[in-house]
Amino acid sequence: MDISDIILPGDTPGTEWRLPVIRFKGSDPKAPKVYMQAALHAGELPGTAVLHFLCEHLRRAEAEGAIRGDITIVPHANPIGAAQAHFGDMQGRFDLGTRTNFNRDFPLISVRDRETLTDDLERYPAVEQLKRQLLYMALGADLVLDLHCDDESLQYAYIDDAFWPEASDLAAALDMAAVFLSDGESSAFEEAVGHALKHALEGERRTHLPGRLAVTLELRGTRDVYPEMAKADAQGLWNFLAGRGIVSGDAKPLGDFKGDALPLDNIEMIRAPQPGAVLFHKSLGDRVQEGDVLATIITHPGRENGSIEVRAPQAGLIVTRVSTRFARRRADLMKILCSEKTRANRKPGTLED
Ligand SMILES: [Zn+2]
Repeated sequence: MDISDIILPGDTPGTEWRLPVIRFKGSDPKAPKVYMQAALHAGELPGTAVLHFLCEHLRRAEAEGAIRGDITIVPHANPIGAAQAHFGDMQGRFDLGTRTNFNRDFPLISVRDRETLTDDLERYPAVEQLKRQLLYMALGADLVLDLHCDDESLQYAYIDDAFWPEASDLAAALDMAAVFLSDGESSAFEEAVGHALKHALEGERRTHLPGRLAVTLELRGTRDVYPEMAKADAQGLWNFLAGRGIVSGDAKPLGDFKGDALPLDNIEMIRAPQPGAVLFHKSLGDRVQEGDVLATIITHPGRENGSIEVRAPQAGLIVTRVSTRFARRRADLMKILCSEKTRANRKPGTLED
């Protein structure tokens, strides 16, 4: 195991950031190379915990000569976001200086131009340097896993359909409840990796990328950071790495992925039509029917007719729910995975800002 720090010069005198990178060298140059990072949204820590425990497996494997493919791990990918606080709350999703989501605005380039990412880095602000360093490392790998989490959530993943159904081994390894097949139309980290691979050849856009992978894993909710949960997911990742021939040794066979894999157009984003206190009637993992009451919103407390009901637009599986109990007008409340396309007008790209 080799640990080195990438130094990111700060944007003001006297500041700099350090980004620790952990590397395990593989013995077989033909084995796939893997890159894994967590907490790009700095407060999303289930992945950081999983990678911590995965490194225990990998150190043991290294001592036994069982690492075949190069493995690069960035267990906390966003020191800049981790340091941002506003009235005591970490602001790990958006860069406070520019209001840009830390997981958007990654450079959309071809993998052929990988070296240009780190050319003359000093001309970029620290956040842009961070994004370029992360994407540079990812584009040196065959398989790229970006570990996030939702607010309150089942285990699910965003996977570009260029990698599906090959990636169902990963979904099975982590016992995913669902896979959202993304459309590759955003500048999120995982989609920037997919973009670079699709445009590897000049004048050609590949739609299927066998042997490659770029995925955003949503490891349940923000508060789902527990030792046993993280160790079980680390074992799942280990089994995935073994299945792909990156490590050798004891691993469980992966079995089949049992959840649903459906496009983003099949996600109903349930929003609050009016502001107020939210009283949920349904929980994560519930299967609902069209018309079921999902939540009551008390819009005018204490008055007759002072509440409204939010109902399911179609049948589906509740995959995520917000943890706050006050909704602003149009605030997201739930994501429901449905067998039919949503009738809401969804723009291509990500589901949320
Ligand atoms: Zn995230």
